[in-house]
Amino acid sequence: MELELWVRLDPESGDVDAEVELAGFDGFFLHRDLDVETLTPGATVEVSTDTSAHLDRVNGYRIAGADPVRLRYRGRLPETMAEGTNVLNDDVLELSIYSAWYPVPLDLGSFSWRLHLDVPSGWRLFTNGEPGQDGVLHHDGNAATGDIAVAGARKVDVMHLADGVELVTCGSVGDAASELGPLIVQGLALLRNWYGAPERLDAGRVVVTERGGYPYSRMPTVFASAEMVEKQTARNVHVLGHELAHFWWNIAPVASHDDWINEALAEYSALRLTEELVGSEASDKVVRGYQLEAEMSREDPPMAHTDPDDEKSYATNKYNRGSLFFRALAELLEPNELDALLTRFHTAHAVAGDASIEGFVELLRQADPALAGEAQRVLEERAWDGHWPGVSLTTIP
Ligand SMILES: [Zn+2]
Repeated sequence: MELELWVRLDPESGDVDAEVELAGFDGFFLHRDLDVETLTPGATVEVSTDTSAHLDRVNGYRIAGADPVRLRYRGRLPETMAEGTNVLNDDVLELSIYSAWYPVPLDLGSFSWRLHLDVPSGWRLFTNGEPGQDGVLHHDGNAATGDIAVAGARKVDVMHLADGVELVTCGSVGDAASELGPLIVQGLALLRNWYGAPERLDAGRVVVTERGGYPYSRMPTVFASAEMVEKQTARNVHVLGHELAHFWWNIAPVASHDDWINEALAEYSALRLTEELVGSEASDKVVRGYQLEAEMSREDPPMAHTDPDDEKSYATNKYNRGSLFFRALAELLEPNELDALLTRFHTAHAVAGDASIEGFVELLRQADPALAGEAQRVLEERAWDGHWPGVSLTTIP
């Protein structure tokens, strides 16, 4: 699937006027405050009621009659969307899949894109794409993530951290952001120590925007909220650690059940970062909370069959059960053996983005066939309760 967009955007008013060419799309989601018209003769684009996505205020559309199809969409987006994660005002802007500000594929899968974005002069923009000629931004589509995320501001600060990683603040973020730099450096050093050198970290960037809402990663960029940075609680260090870990754990297709691998390993890494950067009391608390949640949701499908669209079991299976699963393996293998295995796993799949749950079990089988058998059973077990017989997952049993 390919998408080319010419977008005129006025952050102050929220006015959007866009022309877009879609190739290989059978439909898309778009924010419901944007009106769509077809520019390709013979093509029809109609609102579809048999589509749904957990996106903020969207319509689903079906395309018929032509491919590629050229569309125009216009309207005025609200000042905040997706619980404040997406924002448009005179000082800052952030737009991504959560507000469906561009035509999002119905299967939420990956696609390649080229973006010509026109904003008033004086704005500096940052995206998950790469800058091309004449201000065109693009993304090649081989990446595991399909999103066009853009953040920017009139007032921007760029701090160069270690390993070519940048910390960018958009808007009035405050002094807390400068304290974030050392935390990111420490976190990345630990991750590198555990899992080796990651692919593409040299282009890595953490963009903190003056907004609320939640952080998310679209490699090679982590998008975080100023609200989170200003309160550096154990919980927020954990959440940031999770996003940093995606520099390593972005190795499986996100729209498939194998996305479990990305999220479970990012969350397992976040647990370890919390333990190192905040203390074992904080990480033990997370483990106990996760076990309780796993015990209480006994209707969930097995981890190996986690449905990316099942909102109910999504977080419990991926974050809670997933991190407990890897924590148990770390205890059961020789010291550092799991890290050696995960380093190989990252290296083998980081570029192609084709890691699978079966592939991990196979790797584990080479190291410890009996443990791989047990792991397979736990992955296939309906609603695993988060306890591995004979293994304590907290530092204080
Ligand atoms: Zn994640």
